[in-house]
Amino acid sequence: MTINGTTCVLLLAGSTEATSLAPRLASIPGIEPTMSLAGRTAAPAMPPAGVAVRRGGFGGIQGLQDLLARDRVGAVIDATHPFAKQMPHHALAACETVGVPLLRVERPPWTQQPGDHWIDAADVPDAAAIVQRSTFRRVLLTIGRQEVAPFTACIDQHLFVRSIEPPVAGALGHATLLLARGPFTVADELALLRELDIDAIVSKNSGGDATNAKVTAARSLGLPIVMVSRPAATGATTVQTPDEAISWLLALTSRSRT
Ligand code: NAP
Repeated sequence: MTINGTTCVLLLAGSTEATSLAPRLASIPGIEPTMSLAGRTAAPAMPPAGVAVRRGGFGGIQGLQDLLARDRVGAVIDATHPFAKQMPHHALAACETVGVPLLRVERPPWTQQPGDHWIDAADVPDAAAIVQRSTFRRVLLTIGRQEVAPFTACIDQHLFVRSIEPPVAGALGHATLLLARGPFTVADELALLRELDIDAIVSKNSGGDATNAKVTAARSLGLPIVMVSRPAATGATTVQTPDEAISWLLALTSRSRT
């Protein structure tokens, strides 16, 4: 919906693609972007100029539908993280009901290269079960802080949890916490893996460049990675890059002006 030449765009954030899209959307004449953050990070990065920001959940599908109608949103770009389980489904359901065009931006996953030794896990609990059954001794968890609870069962391993903020208190009493914010270089990752004598890594298959140094480092040290697969896609129209998202939006707004 374009009103008086202006289209309100709701950008569902939580990925590097969203961070890069926000200022680009604000620079397009006739586009008024609102960046929506889930509100999990206590100190999120400053929003770029010209971008309105809202924080916190919408209150499920109905809450999002109400917001889309109230704010006369003309397009939704879902650039939540590839591992966001719920928000992409809510966005699809709400946009279909209200009749608002929706685009999902999701970078491609990593694929195994020669020298990689990946053990596929269907989801995080499956990764924890694989670690629990393994002979690994010292395991680096790089899956964020929200989903470490299934690893409480891994009592025979020394776990190192790397996250930006601490996991929920008490979630994983026997682990060593490594508070750190990426991006990390391959040299950083090699030094960490050697210093801690890590013999396996657990990672989500996030794809992209921001966190792939650990994959390169593991390959060069011959370390296994328990690689968690992505949640199932929603079926929404999907592109892989911010450039493609901008093209989609420009085509959409030029159609609605003619
Ligand atoms: P999720 O399962 O998809 O979302 C859970 C609930 O959080 C949603 O139903 C929604 O609440 C709210 N929510 C999620 N993203 C939102 C957004 N951009 N704006 C407003 N509300 C939002 O997501 P999650 O895995 O809990 O992740 C939370 C956030 O962290 C997401 O924005 C995601 O992009 C980001 N993130 C996730 C991961 C990961 O590995 N899961 C990694 C990096 C970043 P209501 O139902 O109340 O609307």
